[in-house]
Amino acid sequence: MLRKILDAILGYFRWLVSKKEIEEEPVVIRDPDPEDAKPQDGSDPTADSTSVEVITDLEEVLKDTLPEVAPIPETREEPFPEPAPTLPPPTPEPTAPETPSPSTNQSKYLWCLDNGHGKLTPGKRSPKLKNGTQFFEYEFNRDIVKRIIKSLDSLGIAYYNVVPDVHVDNFLQGRVLRANNHPSQMKKIFVSIHSNAGPGRWTPASGVETWFFYRSKTGAKIAAVFQKHIVEKTKWINRGIKSRPREQFYVLKNTSMPAILTENGFFNNETQVYELMKPEVRQKIADAHVAAILEIEEKGL
Ligand SMILES: [Zn+2]
Repeated sequence: MLRKILDAILGYFRWLVSKKEIEEEPVVIRDPDPEDAKPQDGSDPTADSTSVEVITDLEEVLKDTLPEVAPIPETREEPFPEPAPTLPPPTPEPTAPETPSPSTNQSKYLWCLDNGHGKLTPGKRSPKLKNGTQFFEYEFNRDIVKRIIKSLDSLGIAYYNVVPDVHVDNFLQGRVLRANNHPSQMKKIFVSIHSNAGPGRWTPASGVETWFFYRSKTGAKIAAVFQKHIVEKTKWINRGIKSRPREQFYVLKNTSMPAILTENGFFNNETQVYELMKPEVRQKIADAHVAAILEIEEKGL
């Protein structure tokens, strides 16, 4: 391709030179005494040495440039690439992909990790920040789950990434059905990971809270372990473990296993949102979840 461009440039210069020769010819003709310009070696006096030099110089420049150009392959690329194989039409409802099973010798439980929202969920984002960025909860939740999975993989603890799909809405029913139907020899525990928002554009509220299914003693116990580790690692305000008889979170209410929901900081708190966007803070939050998982794996419920 580059060679073609260079050829085109060279061609253009050659055309220019010939044009120049034509344009300058009258100058030569007008010269009253061609002998003055005639070289002693008897070469053609009408030859425009200046123009020739231009070509030579250009070729020199090109020669210098050419070695840097990748050699032209014997077979050139087709101008149009092979059409991509036809992909199957996207399925309207996302299906749960198979999660590769890590070595799970050390696991008592299968940890169903849930990332709460999808990219298509309206709201669930901070107001525009002063630095031009914006916090999206679906992205944060997924990043935390991703970091937890990385640790669990290396620890050999069993997990199920409930919704790896990104282009979904809240997908609450799907989350619950997938977790409930996922086959497992081990007891399952559902952990939904979120960040909180207070009323209004910005909120003065901040800190950590963990929710559990109303009156579930096991749920309360699991929630307390997670809450303790998240507060310890982040040093944020401890808002406690929470539950309520009405308006319970759908995933807590409908999963057929002990289930908790962690609310990690407030993304519409004007200070905390910046913390939530820092990779090192996210790692702390993920590490806290892993520490809670390890504690429960070790001590049991
Ligand atoms: Zn949420």
